[in-house]
Amino acid sequence: LAQLYGPLNMLGTIYRSINQTLVDTEKLLKLLSEPTDVNDKPNAPDLIVTNGEIEFENVSFSYDGRSALSNISFKVPKNSSVALVGESGGGKSTVLRLLYRFYDLKAGDGRILIDGQDIRDVTQLSLRKAIGVVPQDSVLFNSSIAYNIGYGKFGATPEEIEAAAKAAQMHDRITSFPDGYDTRVGERGVRLSGGEKQRVAIARTLLKNPPILLLDEATSALDTATEKDIQKALQHLAEGRSSLAIAHRLSTIATADLILVLKDGQIVEQGNHSELLALNGVFAKMWSAQVQGAEDVPQNGSHQKEAV
Ligand code: ATP
Repeated sequence: LAQLYGPLNMLGTIYRSINQTLVDTEKLLKLLSEPTDVNDKPNAPDLIVTNGEIEFENVSFSYDGRSALSNISFKVPKNSSVALVGESGGGKSTVLRLLYRFYDLKAGDGRILIDGQDIRDVTQLSLRKAIGVVPQDSVLFNSSIAYNIGYGKFGATPEEIEAAAKAAQMHDRITSFPDGYDTRVGERGVRLSGGEKQRVAIARTLLKNPPILLLDEATSALDTATEKDIQKALQHLAEGRSSLAIAHRLSTIATADLILVLKDGQIVEQGNHSELLALNGVFAKMWSAQVQGAEDVPQNGSHQKEAV
Protein backbone atom coordinates (compact mmCIF):
# COMPACT_ATOMS: atom_id res chain seq x y z
CA LEU A 1 0.00 0.00 0.00
CA ALA A 2 2.85 2.33 0.85
CA GLN A 3 4.16 1.81 -2.69
CA LEU A 4 0.91 3.19 -4.03
CA TYR A 5 0.70 6.20 -1.80
CA GLY A 6 4.06 7.65 -2.88
CA PRO A 7 3.00 8.20 -6.50
CA LEU A 8 -0.48 9.15 -5.32
CA ASN A 9 0.98 11.94 -3.25
CA MET A 10 2.75 13.44 -6.23
CA LEU A 11 -0.18 12.93 -8.55
CA GLY A 12 -2.44 14.42 -5.93
CA THR A 13 -0.64 17.73 -6.03
CA ILE A 14 -0.75 17.86 -9.83
CA TYR A 15 -4.29 16.65 -10.12
CA ARG A 16 -5.61 19.01 -7.46
CA SER A 17 -4.48 21.99 -9.44
CA ILE A 18 -6.36 20.63 -12.48
CA ASN A 19 -9.52 19.69 -10.67
CA GLN A 20 -10.30 21.25 -7.34
CA THR A 21 -13.45 19.19 -6.94
CA LEU A 22 -11.50 15.98 -6.56
CA VAL A 23 -12.57 14.24 -3.37
CA ASP A 24 -11.50 10.64 -3.60
CA THR A 25 -7.90 9.46 -3.50
CA GLU A 26 -9.13 6.42 -5.35
CA LYS A 27 -10.01 8.47 -8.42
CA LEU A 28 -6.32 9.07 -8.81
CA LEU A 29 -5.93 5.41 -9.55
CA LYS A 30 -7.37 6.15 -12.97
CA LEU A 31 -4.30 8.23 -13.69
CA LEU A 32 -1.92 5.47 -12.77
CA SER A 33 -0.97 2.97 -15.39
CA GLU A 34 -1.09 0.16 -12.83
CA PRO A 35 -2.64 -2.14 -11.89
CA THR A 36 -2.82 -3.26 -15.49
CA ASP A 37 -4.66 -6.52 -15.12
CA VAL A 38 -7.70 -5.32 -13.18
CA ASN A 39 -10.58 -4.31 -15.40
CA ASP A 40 -14.26 -3.90 -14.73
CA LYS A 41 -16.43 -6.44 -16.53
CA PRO A 42 -18.75 -4.96 -19.17
CA ASN A 43 -21.82 -3.53 -17.43
CA ALA A 44 -20.45 -4.45 -14.00
CA PRO A 45 -22.86 -3.35 -11.27
CA ASP A 46 -21.81 -1.30 -8.26
CA LEU A 47 -21.06 -3.04 -5.00
CA ILE A 48 -23.98 -2.80 -2.62
CA VAL A 49 -22.84 -2.83 0.98
CA THR A 50 -25.47 -3.93 3.44
CA ASN A 51 -23.53 -5.30 6.43
CA GLY A 52 -19.93 -4.90 5.34
CA GLU A 53 -19.19 -8.61 5.76
CA ILE A 54 -15.97 -9.76 4.13
CA GLU A 55 -15.17 -13.32 3.20
CA PHE A 56 -11.99 -14.84 1.78
CA GLU A 57 -12.92 -18.26 0.40
CA ASN A 58 -10.04 -20.63 -0.43
CA VAL A 59 -7.90 -17.77 -1.74
CA SER A 60 -4.55 -18.48 -3.39
CA PHE A 61 -2.35 -15.87 -5.03
CA SER A 62 1.09 -15.80 -6.68
CA TYR A 63 3.33 -12.96 -7.80
CA ASP A 64 4.99 -13.98 -11.06
CA GLY A 65 4.62 -17.65 -10.27
CA ARG A 66 5.82 -17.32 -6.64
CA SER A 67 3.13 -18.25 -4.16
CA ALA A 68 2.23 -15.52 -1.64
CA LEU A 69 -1.07 -16.93 -0.29
CA SER A 70 -2.21 -20.51 -0.44
CA ASN A 71 -5.78 -21.51 0.15
CA ILE A 72 -6.71 -19.11 2.91
CA SER A 73 -10.26 -18.74 4.19
CA PHE A 74 -11.64 -16.41 6.83
CA LYS A 75 -14.57 -14.11 7.53
CA VAL A 76 -14.79 -10.59 8.87
CA PRO A 77 -18.35 -10.45 10.22
CA LYS A 78 -20.35 -7.23 10.40
CA ASN A 79 -18.74 -4.61 12.68
CA SER A 80 -15.91 -6.87 13.76
CA SER A 81 -12.17 -6.37 13.77
CA VAL A 82 -9.76 -8.88 12.33
CA ALA A 83 -6.01 -8.47 12.73
CA LEU A 84 -3.28 -9.99 10.59
CA VAL A 85 0.03 -10.76 12.26
CA GLY A 86 3.07 -12.78 11.36
CA GLU A 87 6.62 -12.55 10.22
CA SER A 88 7.72 -10.46 7.27
CA GLY A 89 6.73 -11.95 3.91
CA GLY A 90 3.91 -14.01 5.44
CA GLY A 91 1.30 -12.45 3.13
CA LYS A 92 -0.37 -9.77 5.31
CA SER A 93 -0.11 -6.92 2.79
CA THR A 94 -1.17 -9.24 -0.02
CA VAL A 95 -4.46 -9.88 1.80
CA LEU A 96 -5.18 -6.14 1.94
CA ARG A 97 -4.04 -5.57 -1.66
CA LEU A 98 -6.38 -8.31 -2.90
CA LEU A 99 -9.35 -6.91 -0.99
CA TYR A 100 -8.65 -3.47 -2.49
CA ARG A 101 -8.40 -5.20 -5.88
CA PHE A 102 -4.91 -4.21 -6.90
CA TYR A 103 -4.94 -7.67 -8.42
CA ASP A 104 -7.75 -10.00 -9.41
CA LEU A 105 -7.81 -13.64 -8.38
CA LYS A 106 -7.49 -16.10 -11.22
CA ALA A 107 -10.32 -18.52 -11.93
CA GLY A 108 -10.00 -21.47 -9.57
CA ASP A 109 -7.97 -19.50 -7.00
CA GLY A 110 -10.91 -18.81 -4.70
CA ARG A 111 -13.18 -15.83 -4.18
CA ILE A 112 -13.29 -12.65 -2.13
CA LEU A 113 -16.81 -11.62 -1.23
CA ILE A 114 -18.29 -8.51 0.32
CA ASP A 115 -21.86 -9.09 1.46
CA GLY A 116 -21.98 -12.08 -0.88
CA GLN A 117 -20.77 -10.20 -3.98
CA ASP A 118 -17.57 -11.36 -5.66
CA ILE A 119 -15.40 -8.23 -5.79
CA ARG A 120 -14.28 -9.12 -9.34
CA ASP A 121 -17.88 -8.66 -10.51
CA VAL A 122 -18.46 -5.12 -9.23
CA THR A 123 -17.01 -1.78 -10.34
CA GLN A 124 -13.64 -0.88 -8.88
CA LEU A 125 -14.88 2.60 -8.09
CA SER A 126 -17.79 1.36 -5.96
CA LEU A 127 -15.49 -1.11 -4.19
CA ARG A 128 -12.94 1.56 -3.32
CA LYS A 129 -15.65 3.97 -2.20
CA ALA A 130 -16.70 1.38 0.36
CA ILE A 131 -13.20 0.94 1.73
CA GLY A 132 -11.21 3.40 3.82
CA VAL A 133 -7.47 2.91 3.99
CA VAL A 134 -5.20 4.14 6.77
CA PRO A 135 -1.72 3.31 5.49
CA GLN A 136 1.55 3.27 7.41
CA ASP A 137 2.76 6.41 5.70
CA SER A 138 -0.12 8.73 5.16
CA VAL A 139 -0.11 11.15 2.29
CA LEU A 140 -0.29 14.85 3.02
CA PHE A 141 -0.91 17.34 0.28
CA ASN A 142 0.97 20.63 0.22
CA SER A 143 -2.07 22.48 1.45
CA SER A 144 -3.80 23.46 4.68
CA ILE A 145 -4.48 20.92 7.36
CA ALA A 146 -8.22 21.60 6.89
CA TYR A 147 -7.91 20.64 3.21
CA ASN A 148 -6.01 17.51 4.11
CA ILE A 149 -8.76 16.36 6.46
CA GLY A 150 -11.69 17.66 4.40
CA TYR A 151 -10.43 15.69 1.41
CA GLY A 152 -12.27 12.70 2.85
CA LYS A 153 -15.67 14.19 2.03
CA PHE A 154 -16.68 16.50 -0.78
CA GLY A 155 -18.02 19.72 0.66
CA ALA A 156 -17.08 18.98 4.27
CA THR A 157 -17.88 21.96 6.49
CA PRO A 158 -15.32 23.46 8.91
CA GLU A 159 -17.44 22.07 11.77
CA GLU A 160 -17.29 18.55 10.31
CA ILE A 161 -13.55 18.85 9.80
CA GLU A 162 -13.06 19.96 13.41
CA ALA A 163 -15.28 17.15 14.75
CA ALA A 164 -13.27 14.58 12.78
CA ALA A 165 -9.99 16.05 14.04
CA LYS A 166 -11.30 15.88 17.60
CA ALA A 167 -12.33 12.24 17.23
CA ALA A 168 -8.91 11.52 15.72
CA GLN A 169 -7.18 13.11 18.74
CA MET A 170 -5.60 15.76 16.50
CA HIS A 171 -7.58 18.92 17.31
CA ASP A 172 -5.38 20.08 20.21
CA ARG A 173 -2.23 19.68 18.15
CA ILE A 174 -3.77 21.61 15.26
CA THR A 175 -4.88 24.50 17.46
CA SER A 176 -1.36 24.70 18.90
CA PHE A 177 -0.17 25.97 15.48
CA PRO A 178 -0.44 29.77 15.06
CA ASP A 179 -2.58 29.36 11.93
CA GLY A 180 -4.65 26.51 13.35
CA TYR A 181 -6.59 24.64 10.67
CA ASP A 182 -5.16 26.96 7.99
CA THR A 183 -1.61 25.81 8.74
CA ARG A 184 0.08 24.59 5.62
CA VAL A 185 1.41 21.06 5.94
CA GLY A 186 3.32 18.71 3.70
CA GLU A 187 6.73 19.15 2.16
CA ARG A 188 6.42 22.90 1.83
CA GLY A 189 4.71 23.47 5.16
CA VAL A 190 4.84 22.26 8.74
CA ARG A 191 6.33 18.81 8.93
CA LEU A 192 4.08 16.52 10.95
CA SER A 193 5.42 13.45 12.73
CA GLY A 194 4.45 9.97 11.53
CA GLY A 195 1.90 9.65 14.34
CA GLU A 196 0.38 13.05 13.53
CA LYS A 197 0.14 12.23 9.84
CA GLN A 198 -1.58 8.99 10.72
CA ARG A 199 -4.12 10.88 12.83
CA VAL A 200 -4.80 13.24 9.91
CA ALA A 201 -5.44 10.13 7.79
CA ILE A 202 -7.78 8.81 10.47
CA ALA A 203 -9.70 12.12 10.54
CA ARG A 204 -9.91 12.06 6.74
CA THR A 205 -11.24 8.50 6.80
CA LEU A 206 -13.77 9.39 9.51
CA LEU A 207 -15.16 11.98 7.10
CA LYS A 208 -15.16 9.50 4.22
CA ASN A 209 -17.23 7.24 6.50
CA PRO A 210 -16.65 3.91 4.69
CA PRO A 211 -18.29 0.69 5.94
CA ILE A 212 -15.00 -1.20 5.58
CA LEU A 213 -11.58 -0.26 6.90
CA LEU A 214 -8.08 -1.41 6.01
CA LEU A 215 -5.41 -0.41 8.49
CA ASP A 216 -1.69 -0.82 8.17
CA GLU A 217 -0.12 -0.14 11.53
CA ALA A 218 3.16 1.78 11.50
CA THR A 219 6.16 -0.44 12.16
CA SER A 220 8.20 2.24 13.91
CA ALA A 221 8.05 2.55 17.68
CA LEU A 222 5.90 5.45 18.85
CA ASP A 223 6.15 7.16 22.19
CA THR A 224 3.59 6.04 24.75
CA ALA A 225 1.36 9.14 24.54
CA THR A 226 1.22 9.06 20.73
CA GLU A 227 0.48 5.36 20.75
CA LYS A 228 -2.41 5.93 23.15
CA ASP A 229 -3.79 8.81 21.06
CA ILE A 230 -3.66 6.71 17.92
CA GLN A 231 -5.32 3.77 19.60
CA LYS A 232 -8.12 6.03 20.79
CA ALA A 233 -8.49 7.54 17.33
CA LEU A 234 -8.58 4.11 15.73
CA GLN A 235 -11.21 2.94 18.21
CA HIS A 236 -13.45 5.83 17.13
CA LEU A 237 -12.78 5.00 13.50
CA ALA A 238 -13.46 1.28 13.82
CA GLU A 239 -16.78 1.72 15.61
CA GLY A 240 -19.63 0.34 13.53
CA ARG A 241 -17.36 -0.82 10.70
CA SER A 242 -15.70 -4.04 9.61
CA SER A 243 -11.94 -3.73 9.83
CA LEU A 244 -8.95 -5.68 8.65
CA ALA A 245 -5.67 -4.52 10.17
CA ILE A 246 -2.03 -5.43 9.79
CA ALA A 247 -0.55 -5.29 13.28
CA HIS A 248 3.12 -5.14 14.16
CA ARG A 249 2.77 -4.33 17.85
CA LEU A 250 0.80 -7.19 19.31
CA SER A 251 -0.41 -5.09 22.26
CA THR A 252 -2.52 -3.00 19.88
CA ILE A 253 -4.71 -5.94 18.88
CA ALA A 254 -5.48 -7.34 22.32
CA THR A 255 -9.13 -6.46 21.73
CA ALA A 256 -9.41 -7.67 18.10
CA ASP A 257 -12.30 -10.07 17.59
CA LEU A 258 -10.10 -12.41 15.59
CA ILE A 259 -6.36 -12.59 15.03
CA LEU A 260 -5.00 -14.50 12.04
CA VAL A 261 -1.37 -15.59 12.21
CA LEU A 262 0.08 -15.79 8.70
CA LYS A 263 3.20 -17.72 7.85
CA ASP A 264 4.42 -18.46 4.33
CA GLY A 265 1.04 -17.53 2.91
CA GLN A 266 -1.01 -19.74 5.19
CA ILE A 267 -3.10 -19.14 8.30
CA VAL A 268 -1.22 -21.17 10.87
CA GLU A 269 -3.18 -20.05 13.94
CA GLN A 270 -6.36 -18.12 14.61
CA GLY A 271 -8.32 -16.97 17.63
CA ASN A 272 -8.53 -14.04 19.98
CA HIS A 273 -5.56 -12.83 22.00
CA SER A 274 -6.03 -15.07 25.02
CA GLU A 275 -6.92 -18.12 22.92
CA LEU A 276 -3.73 -17.69 20.94
CA LEU A 277 -1.61 -17.26 24.06
CA ALA A 278 -3.17 -20.45 25.47
CA LEU A 279 -2.22 -22.31 22.26
CA ASN A 280 1.39 -21.66 23.17
CA GLY A 281 2.46 -21.71 19.51
CA VAL A 282 3.66 -19.17 16.94
CA PHE A 283 1.67 -16.24 18.37
CA ALA A 284 2.71 -16.97 21.96
CA LYS A 285 6.35 -16.98 20.83
CA MET A 286 5.94 -13.67 19.01
CA TRP A 287 4.28 -12.23 22.10
CA SER A 288 7.00 -13.25 24.51
CA ALA A 289 9.67 -12.02 22.07
CA GLN A 290 7.99 -8.60 21.97
CA VAL A 291 7.53 -8.44 25.73
CA GLN A 292 11.19 -9.40 26.13
CA GLY A 293 12.21 -6.79 23.52
CA ALA A 294 10.29 -4.06 25.34
CA GLU A 295 11.94 -4.95 28.64
CA ASP A 296 15.36 -4.60 27.02
CA VAL A 297 14.65 -1.00 25.99
CA PRO A 298 15.71 1.63 28.55
CA GLN A 299 12.53 3.32 29.79
CA ASN A 300 14.00 6.76 30.48
CA GLY A 301 14.26 8.06 26.87
CA SER A 302 11.85 10.58 25.41
CA HIS A 303 11.06 8.05 22.67
CA GLN A 304 10.45 5.08 24.87
CA LYS A 305 8.82 2.03 23.40
CA GLU A 306 5.40 0.87 24.49
CA ALA A 307 5.18 -2.28 26.58
CA VAL A 308 5.02 -4.20 23.31
P1 ATP B 1 5.80 -7.43 5.67
O1 ATP B 1 5.43 -7.62 7.10
O2 ATP B 1 7.28 -7.45 5.45
O3 ATP B 1 5.14 -6.24 4.99
P2 ATP B 1 3.83 -9.25 4.54
O4 ATP B 1 3.41 -10.27 5.53
O5 ATP B 1 2.93 -8.08 4.34
O6 ATP B 1 5.30 -8.76 4.87
P3 ATP B 1 3.61 -9.59 1.68
O7 ATP B 1 4.10 -8.22 1.36
O8 ATP B 1 2.17 -9.86 1.48
O9 ATP B 1 4.04 -10.02 3.15
O10 ATP B 1 4.46 -10.61 0.81
C1 ATP B 1 4.18 -12.00 0.69
C2 ATP B 1 5.16 -12.62 -0.30
O11 ATP B 1 4.97 -12.07 -1.60
C3 ATP B 1 6.62 -12.37 0.05
O12 ATP B 1 7.35 -13.51 -0.31
C4 ATP B 1 7.01 -11.21 -0.83
O13 ATP B 1 8.36 -11.25 -1.16
C5 ATP B 1 6.14 -11.44 -2.07
N1 ATP B 1 5.75 -10.18 -2.71
C6 ATP B 1 5.10 -9.14 -2.12
N2 ATP B 1 4.87 -8.15 -3.01
C7 ATP B 1 5.38 -8.58 -4.19
C8 ATP B 1 5.43 -8.01 -5.50
N3 ATP B 1 4.89 -6.81 -5.78
N4 ATP B 1 6.07 -8.72 -6.47
C9 ATP B 1 6.60 -9.93 -6.21
N5 ATP B 1 6.57 -10.53 -5.00
C10 ATP B 1 5.96 -9.87 -4.01
